[in-house]
Amino acid sequence: MTEDRRVLSRTAEEGDSALATLRPTSWDDFIGQEEVKRNLRVFIDAARNRGEPLDHVLLCGPPGLGKTTLARLIARESGVGFRQTSGPVLLKRGDLAALLTGLEAGDVLFIDEIHRLSSSIEEILYPAMEDKQLDIVIGSGVSARSLRVDLVPFTLVGATTRSGLLTRPLRERFGIPLHLQFYDTAALATIIASYAVRLGVSIDSGGASEIATRARMTPRVALRLLRRVRDFLRSDSQTIDKTLANKALSAMGVDEHGMDGMDRRYLDCLLNHYHGGPVGVEALAASLSEQRDVVEDTIEAFLLQLGLLQRTPRGRMLTAQGWQFFNRTPPTHWTGQMPLSFDEETKKDES
Ligand code: ADP
Repeated sequence: MTEDRRVLSRTAEEGDSALATLRPTSWDDFIGQEEVKRNLRVFIDAARNRGEPLDHVLLCGPPGLGKTTLARLIARESGVGFRQTSGPVLLKRGDLAALLTGLEAGDVLFIDEIHRLSSSIEEILYPAMEDKQLDIVIGSGVSARSLRVDLVPFTLVGATTRSGLLTRPLRERFGIPLHLQFYDTAALATIIASYAVRLGVSIDSGGASEIATRARMTPRVALRLLRRVRDFLRSDSQTIDKTLANKALSAMGVDEHGMDGMDRRYLDCLLNHYHGGPVGVEALAASLSEQRDVVEDTIEAFLLQLGLLQRTPRGRMLTAQGWQFFNRTPPTHWTGQMPLSFDEETKKDES
């Protein structure tokens, strides 16, 4: 694993324990996502006034944007307990049944990566979410009996990086679907500054902005970069300013766009190996020796935001901007969209 990959480590598990203890514990600490926050606060207040648990919530968005943090905030603001699990670890129907029967009235049950639940586990969720009932099958074969158990009212909060992979019946059972957006530089700089205070690190606005612009529009990345830049401080009294942040981030291989070694390898592979595409994501992932999920959720999600990549029915392709980024001209067979010239743009607007 290369150094820069570790810096931007792409999965939720890697190196997050220190940050987990610093998670926002109030709406004010949770920066940005104003529309999502506003809506959630209205729904939580309304549910509380009715004396009911909040309707089931589905949080969609790329990794590191704050889905887990929001789920915890929902429980905290509703004054209820919080239980957490994830799609890939719920292997047996009994695991989910034990979780559901162990809930206390009003609890929030958070299922991360809910798109990875198996279909047999999903089937248990349907009656649980809709009618607060659990169907348990006891025994097997001809002696199998089905038992119906009443559950306490609860709120399921599901998080997914791929809302498109959720089955329709499951998606339709969430009364509150919310989409998290990538963060702008100002919001990330505020997050970085506030974590610096909590970490006891001195940082000025130039340092916070420098880290923010290279943080892939993602709080988790911003916080990891902050911790790594902190390692470049020579003394506890030194402040992270623009110069220090710049030096540290460049040393870590994070460029001014926020791209790291893996992004560059991806682009290099697409450009030089597959001639700018189209190429299937499986082939790209295999060339990079990466899992398809990681390629799609982190590398591609970011390059799409930068406008360098397009997903087409025939596969991944560099955009016109992508070709320009490398100062290269697309080959004659290239079929992507070239940006319109100013004259063409004007003509299109007029027509
Ligand atoms: P996800 O569940 O979407 O992968 P997390 O909720 O685990 O993301 O967030 C990753 C890290 O970023 C956590 O340390 C979290 O506290 C922090 N974070 C995310 N969003 C925000 C935000 N809006 N304000 C402050 N910190 C945030």
